Amino acid sequence: MKILISACLLGMPVRYDGQSKGVVSHWLQGLGAEGRLLPFCPEVAGGLPTPRPPAERQGEHVITQGGKDVTTEFLRGAQLALALCRQEGIRLALLKEGSPSCGSGRIYNGQFTGVSMAGEGCTTALLRRHGIDVFSEDQLAQLAERLRQLQSAG
Ligand code: SF4
Repeated sequence: MKILISACLLGMPVRYDGQSKGVVSHWLQGLGAEGRLLPFCPEVAGGLPTPRPPAERQGEHVITQGGKDVTTEFLRGAQLALALCRQEGIRLALLKEGSPSCGSGRIYNGQFTGVSMAGEGCTTALLRRHGIDVFSEDQLAQLAERLRQLQSAG
């Protein structure tokens, strides 16, 4: 059983600022060594460059700090993430908290002031609507438990 993972959490420099946000975990390293982590960046897949202007959700839209509407690219990336999950039979995702694509518990409030609020990113929302469980890098224990449940259920 494979897990979709935000590419930046695996150390790939795909964030808006050209950096990564690698998460350190022996458990994850083990899954990676078994070929069970599928890295994906919805924003890059959706057609946005790296680096790119920061963007935040404003209701159903995603807007860059400069005021450009990039909703189409964000939604395209979300659809591609879902398509990959379907193709690979993926039921679990580990996505970067706080991102307008990948956030699962909180996102920035759309004002570019560094203030976050409860909410989820575009990709997380779509995956959850289609029955895929999404966890953040702060929830590795919960993800491991869910993986164990799914595996024992066959
Ligand atoms: S869209 Fe997701 S995978 Fe891509 S850089 Fe942002 S948080 Fe990481």
